Amino acid sequence: MSKPTGDFLKILEERVKNELQCPACHSRKFKFSNTYLTCESCKTEYGIDVASRICSFSPALTMNKTKNEIMEWWGDLYEQCYAEGDSILSEESLEKDLIDLEDMFNKREHLAYVEMLPLLKVSKGLRVLEIGPGGGGHAALFARHGAHMTSLDITPSRAVSTALKLSHVGDKNGFSCQGDSENLPFADNTFDVVYSNGVLHHTTSTKKAVDEVYRVLKPGGKTVLMLYSRHSAEYWVNIVPRAILNGEIFYLNEENWIGRVTEGKPKFGKVKNPITRVYSAKEIKDLLSSFEMVSLRKGSFHFNNFMIPGLNKFRNWILTKMGLKRHPGCKIVYGEPRFIDTKTELKLGKYIGYGWNIVGEKPFK
Ligand SMILES: [Zn+2]
Repeated sequence: MSKPTGDFLKILEERVKNELQCPACHSRKFKFSNTYLTCESCKTEYGIDVASRICSFSPALTMNKTKNEIMEWWGDLYEQCYAEGDSILSEESLEKDLIDLEDMFNKREHLAYVEMLPLLKVSKGLRVLEIGPGGGGHAALFARHGAHMTSLDITPSRAVSTALKLSHVGDKNGFSCQGDSENLPFADNTFDVVYSNGVLHHTTSTKKAVDEVYRVLKPGGKTVLMLYSRHSAEYWVNIVPRAILNGEIFYLNEENWIGRVTEGKPKFGKVKNPITRVYSAKEIKDLLSSFEMVSLRKGSFHFNNFMIPGLNKFRNWILTKMGLKRHPGCKIVYGEPRFIDTKTELKLGKYIGYGWNIVGEKPFK
């Protein structure tokens, strides 16, 4: 693994001054050393790992059973998708991956390209928070476009992965920490933009997480979110039939039976994805009622979003016959090159896609 560059403690010092707040008592006063960030008010100690360039605000022992399962499941998926790529990452390879990633996001009409990058072009150095950066590809792309990046993930390996990428890109002053989206370690009115792509529907209380996004945004600041869509091919023709077949639809809560059949299967542990929620347009508007809705559009549909055995292989076979190639930009965010949306799929996605692409603004009061 390549060595981190820049001075992590300087980065931390700047965040202590401008962003951080104790998640236990809400004090803004900290002391810090090479190993701990200590709240001067309640004396809680938060671990610092200088080598990995992260700070931990919610270690496993402080979290409840479901949150530990969420951390374990997403840690398993990190190992499946990102661990190998991170082990051979360099500044040069990341640069190439990010160029490919931006091209892929452009062709897929992705939230990161359509809704997010135009915001970053308005002015350099915007304070941006990403919640749930996954392998850090999106955060690194935003830093490359001049954002002053902070990221938070509940899963330690994902926070480390993001820290590694942020140390190689942009101003190299990106900050990554481990913590809970429902109790953010940041002060009120801090960020210009809060971005979160397909994450907040996986936490125990999406409402609490959205309220936290509102709290840490500056008035006039924007949140750019992707949350799953209820009225989509993926939900009605894939997720629901699977949950009927395995019987879990009849005795589990909705977010739990959806969780069990989405995002993949455990490989290194036993825990399945605990929680996934889906939203109708009305449910999105209710959830974000404290924001002014700037834009809301549906997207993301593939012809393999149906519960038919072998359909994924069949789609890949057809697309190969059509002369198409797997896009290399998928590697840094999905762990492998993939066939991206065809023009027909993009069009259908506007009606039956699985993702709501949302921009909300925190009003001036
Ligand atoms: Zn405190």
